[in-house]
Amino acid sequence: MASVITGDITSEILAELSVFDSVGVATRERFESAPPEHHPSLVMENFQSIIVYVQIPENPTDTEQIIENMGRFDHIFDVLTSLDAVIRRFQDMGYEARLIQQNEMGLSLPQAGAQAGLGEVGGVNSLMIEGAGLTGTLGAIITDAPLTQSDLAVDVCTRCEACVDVCPAADAIFEMDAARCIACGECIEACPF
Ligand code: SF4
Ligand code: SF4
Repeated sequence: MASVITGDITSEILAELSVFDSVGVATRERFESAPPEHHPSLVMENFQSIIVYVQIPENPTDTEQIIENMGRFDHIFDVLTSLDAVIRRFQDMGYEARLIQQNEMGLSLPQAGAQAGLGEVGGVNSLMIEGAGLTGTLGAIITDAPLTQSDLAVDVCTRCEACVDVCPAADAIFEMDAARCIACGECIEACPF
């Protein structure tokens, strides 16, 4: 039988993940209008919350390195320790919790990041983060623990479409087909933020 989690536990969980540059929580209700083929319930049927974290690169102009590290954190030991501690903490309280792999079961991490208040989804379906443009690397934990959701970020992406203009897969992106992305990094360099 799982114990009852309060907002205070949410704060503690987020504090445990302070190794990241930014962390937020999206609760299940934020995904009510998500298309069934991209819904987080495909990853965990009874999920209640998704914790999304982001790492901003030390050198935001090194696009090659940003692309190489996109979606992975295994080169940062502190990160792995924090993620492991949080997952074990949930499990000790009787909840299910696990990492979400990049685009697992069609779930969009940028969309989850936006619902967790970390930024807004820009023109090429990447997460536009205030002060960091499209350079952030995202990861997430999905859990059936009820957490307190973060406030949404607003007025972050200006909809200038500079990222779309340079994207060689723009037509596909407009159809939300992230699989067509060739990881060229052009959008990262084009975003003015
Ligand atoms: S194809 Fe290139 S420009 Fe388009 S979304 Fe992917 S990385 Fe960005
Ligand atoms: S380039 Fe413009 S539209 Fe694209 S993410 Fe940046 S601000 Fe938003």
